[in-house]
Amino acid sequence: MVIEQQLAAMDLSGADITHAANSHLHFDHAVAANYFLESEVLMQRSEWDAAFAEDAECIDTNLFDGLKGARLSFVDGDHDVFGNGSVRLIYAPGHTTGHQVLIVNLDNTGSILLSSDLYHTRANRKLQRSPTFNSDARQTLASMEKIERLLVESGATLWIEHHKALADTLKKAPEF
Ligand SMILES: [Zn+2]
Repeated sequence: MVIEQQLAAMDLSGADITHAANSHLHFDHAVAANYFLESEVLMQRSEWDAAFAEDAECIDTNLFDGLKGARLSFVDGDHDVFGNGSVRLIYAPGHTTGHQVLIVNLDNTGSILLSSDLYHTRANRKLQRSPTFNSDARQTLASMEKIERLLVESGATLWIEHHKALADTLKKAPEF
């Protein structure tokens, strides 16, 4: 189910969403960006600059062209969205130049950390290796270390969205 359908099932649309953020600008993580043009879009400055650089690879900016006219708020590094620790963007570069992960504290479920493409599978996490297609292997390994520390400190549950067997077991909107 795509995000527009998930929101519609809760009688919401993109216009109801006050804040939006993309983990990074690869097509499979950014194609819905044009749906949130009325939101404040929290964007790692380094991700934006790399995506629109002349030598950018693997990124088709036509897919999220509307973002150029969006309310962009540039972020440099970790960012506590509401200033109370409830939603935090954590800078975890290496898959792309400005890749970030998200940690949210939910009343009923506790803390969840969304991996995005820091890890693609559980095996990827176990092996602690950088996939060959990442933009920077050294940064990737440093980000893995950083996020593993954060998982211990926060007690958060890690969701690896690309791991289909795991993703299929997770309760997602509009279920919760
Ligand atoms: Zn990616």
